[in-house]
Amino acid sequence: MKIIPSCREVSELLSQAQERPLTLVERFGLHVHLPLCEGCRNFKRQLVFMREAFKRYLERP
Ligand SMILES: [Zn+2]
Repeated sequence: MKIIPSCREVSELLSQAQERPLTLVERFGLHVHLPLCEGCRNFKRQLVFMREAFKRYLERP
């Protein structure tokens, strides 16, 4: 088993994290990959931003 996931795997994990709790191994992979990879950090920031924006949209009266 590979310890550090690829960028592709990281983006999939970040998307899945919106729908299900990640396993310990998956969280560890993100924890190792994200500090090394600016692209995935940006992707994660975008996901969080999108989720917040969507939530605000739903909460609008
Ligand atoms: Zn990456």
